[in-house]
Amino acid sequence: MALYTAAASVLAGLERREGALKTLVYKSRFQNIKQLYALVSETLRYSPVLDSIMAGACLLKAEKKLSPHLAKVLVYDLLFGKGLKCGGRWKVLVQKHRARLQAELARLKVRKKVSCNEDLLAPTESGNKASQVPRYVRVNTLKTCMDDVVDYFKRQGYSYLGRASRMEELSSLSGKQFFLDPHLPELLVFPSQTDFHENRLYITGHIILQDKASCLPAFLLSPPLGSQVIDACAAPGNKTSHLAAILKNKGQIFAFDLDPKRLATMSTMLVRAGVTCCELASEDFLAVDPTDPKFSNVSYILLDPSCSGSGMVNRQAGESTPSMERLRALAAFQRKALGHALRFPALRRLVYSTCSVEKEENEAVVWDVLQEHGPVFRLVNVLPSWPHRGLATFPGAECCLRACPTATLTNGFFVAVLERQLEHNGQGSCSAPPIKAEVDGGEGRGPCATRKKRRKKGPCVQ
Ligand code: SAM
Repeated sequence: MALYTAAASVLAGLERREGALKTLVYKSRFQNIKQLYALVSETLRYSPVLDSIMAGACLLKAEKKLSPHLAKVLVYDLLFGKGLKCGGRWKVLVQKHRARLQAELARLKVRKKVSCNEDLLAPTESGNKASQVPRYVRVNTLKTCMDDVVDYFKRQGYSYLGRASRMEELSSLSGKQFFLDPHLPELLVFPSQTDFHENRLYITGHIILQDKASCLPAFLLSPPLGSQVIDACAAPGNKTSHLAAILKNKGQIFAFDLDPKRLATMSTMLVRAGVTCCELASEDFLAVDPTDPKFSNVSYILLDPSCSGSGMVNRQAGESTPSMERLRALAAFQRKALGHALRFPALRRLVYSTCSVEKEENEAVVWDVLQEHGPVFRLVNVLPSWPHRGLATFPGAECCLRACPTATLTNGFFVAVLERQLEHNGQGSCSAPPIKAEVDGGEGRGPCATRKKRRKKGPCVQ
């Protein structure tokens, strides 16, 4: 399919609420995913401006064969993008109207008293939220260490302010300042506009650009060195590489994902991050047999299944809130995947996470599955100092963590930690020592500052 028609069908799919932008772009099977994603997301960003220009130029009235979505993509590329490099007959058709469209753009700028195109874009709700979220940088301890990275940034002219004592301090960052995060020991925090995508440390896998909320699952799972771990829905693999760093590559991670393209990206990323303890499989996690002897020692599972993504602050305009029907379908899969994960006989601890803020995908899923696996697994009250907790939809839901731009300066996120109760040690393969005391670690000791020391006693999860 040609670029413009592919982009138009993604726009149509978004309007019909068939899925999130990324999902629809992947589903299109267009050969250059990056190019298609960039074109659609930019067209969405300019959508109200394009509507106004097209209406002013009477484009759709004059060209009845042109669908509104295709017209929008073409006009975007003509006026704001690369200038219609391809497009065949559609290009010829829109170019007939070039002068009218350019005149409408100029008129709009005069009316809005702006001189550049970007200034036509009103600040969006998601743009406002995004600007509240700092730039988080996870130091990849498989390749480097915190001291070396801090020194590197100091040499680049940044001032290091030490470990923030409270979350609120992170929102006061400006210019070239950075903090060590108050909760996560390997996380640096920079002002929100900081872009490290071209940075040498990022390109070589020494640092990973990962939102703080998305660092919580591996941190809270905290498998001890030598553990066998499953990452059930793993691609593109940021959490897998975090798990490998926690394991210091000692142990084994079985990582599954249904999507071969995402797995291919993940494989490149894991090599770059120096991960050597991970076995990737292009497999449906629901079809993985928990009784397979290969998994008989798997005692930690991270389950970060497909979700609506409604917590992501960079969701595009046009990616509306998920419909009830979509939420129901997602929740049904999430429930199945969580129930399936709890069937692994040696499982001790599981982390369930989503980047959704919908209770249907979060508290409701956890509650339903706990009903079924009730006395065997319990919810663990993690990070007592974390300010944003699970919605009070069932007793104990406050054990779960929520995250959002305003309360935690992160993307919207949800995490629940489940543990096997000691008297329900599965089928005898769980021989590790009790872990309740570690998990209930007191707030007064501070968030994992002494992680190395406490590791001797077991995983640092509080
Ligand atoms: N944990 C990943 C990370 O941190 O980079 C992100 C995972 S993403 C939220 C969800 C993933 O689940 C997608 O890559 C999707 O392809 C995968 N997925 C969906 N259904 C699956 C299934 N039945 N089995 C395995 N993977 C699945």
